[in-house]
Amino acid sequence: MSTIDLGRPVGSEEKRYDLYGGVPFWLVRNGIEPPHAPLTEDINVEVAVVGGGITGALCAHHLSEAGIGCVVLDAHGAGLGSTCASTALLQYEIDTPLHELAELVGTNNAVRSYRACWDAIDELQAIAKRVGHRGLERRPSVQYASRHRHVGDLRKEAMMRSAHGMLTTFEQGSACRAWLPFDVPAALRTDQAAEMDAWRFTHDLQRHDRERGVRMFERTPVLSVEENGGGVLLRTKGGFRVQAKYCVLATGYEAHGTLPKDVVRLHSTYAFISGPRKAQQAWPERALIWETARPYLYLRTAPDERIIVGGRDVPFRAPAMRDALLDLKCEALLKDVRRLMPDLDLDREFSWCGTFGSTKDGLPYIDRASKRSRIWFALGMGGNGITFSVVAAGIIRDSILGVRNPNASLFRFDR
Ligand SMILES: Cc1cc2nc3c(=O)[nH]c(=O)nc-3n(C[C@H](O)[C@H](O)[C@H](O)COP(=O)(O)OP(=O)(O)OC[C@H]3O[C@@H](n4cnc5c(N)ncnc54)[C@H](O)[C@@H]3O)c2cc1C
Repeated sequence: MSTIDLGRPVGSEEKRYDLYGGVPFWLVRNGIEPPHAPLTEDINVEVAVVGGGITGALCAHHLSEAGIGCVVLDAHGAGLGSTCASTALLQYEIDTPLHELAELVGTNNAVRSYRACWDAIDELQAIAKRVGHRGLERRPSVQYASRHRHVGDLRKEAMMRSAHGMLTTFEQGSACRAWLPFDVPAALRTDQAAEMDAWRFTHDLQRHDRERGVRMFERTPVLSVEENGGGVLLRTKGGFRVQAKYCVLATGYEAHGTLPKDVVRLHSTYAFISGPRKAQQAWPERALIWETARPYLYLRTAPDERIIVGGRDVPFRAPAMRDALLDLKCEALLKDVRRLMPDLDLDREFSWCGTFGSTKDGLPYIDRASKRSRIWFALGMGGNGITFSVVAAGIIRDSILGVRNPNASLFRFDR
């Protein structure tokens, strides 16, 4: 029987829930939702989901749609972790290119991982429709070669993805101008991508699920999860107990110190959004734009013709050090874009930064604490944590239902 101690914070001993700094645009745009009451009694439930960010919301949604009773417990407020800071580009491309991932985990597993993320985009769109979320928009995704020496690998990547049924177009030189507003040596385009407001989506999802019986408790830190016989016992900071058959830990990057293995490296990342711009398209089809260099610069459009720019990642040391670099990093991002597009009217209205985790192969960890454990970790990592959250929700639901999920073996701790 294992006990997991959830009392350890990321980065700072004094201050918990310190996953972002600055002013995330989505919080300004949406405001704060009415709070939910904390847990004030002992309860019994089939599944206790710890974490009310986008991952916890998706897990609870999948479980409740399958008729499994669940509650969500959040230490702070729903969506106020990494979710509110997310720039929310929805891409099936994992941070490790398919041809490199194939060398790390084998071609079959690499292709299946990419396919799972490809399908996750369609699934997110279907969920958004079902719960009445209107902030998800389909976009093309264009990755450009940052340097001439990256062209060969980008071509190889396009060919490999297309060969495995993920249609990707590759162009070189002036032909890329049809997709991008600046000159690049080469670029790769896919139409399987989208952008969203992750904070709004999380709240729309939770509202829909609450109306269908999922209970949400905020300001309810869970201190420990303990396996006891046929179930799990959660103890909250308020002194209450939740007895459940299963527990899902969707605690985001705060899970870092609680994992069975030290498998995650933390980074700080930076982003800003422009003010509203004149009604004109910034670039063709409002594509999500990113590059081959590491760390990569990325751009997307947002409501009111705004532009979001992100990147300039550095290794994470402490929240205060991450936040101290905010102005410097965002100024550098602004210069990066001005170098690419000198004629674009771009200012910096809100700037923010956040902590995110990466893994050795770019894949998430979606697994039980140990072989027959009833405690699941749902950890999206890297640049496309949100697509991984959907994949996690499906795997965990199927496991609890006793249904075989072909993706389950891809994201284990012992891979
Ligand atoms: C700046 C930035 C840009 C990003 N851009 C993208 C992007 O473009 N595309 C993409 O797909 N992903 C992106 N990501 C990653 C994505 O935002 C995350 O993968 C996602 O938000 C993680 O959601 P989560 O629900 O797992 O974690 P969180 O949103 O952090 O939620 C975890 C919740 O768990 C709660 N919690 C933690 N410990 C406990 C406890 N002991 N008891 C109770 N509750 C607890 C916290 O209060 C928190 O609300 C970005 C991240 C950042 C920071």
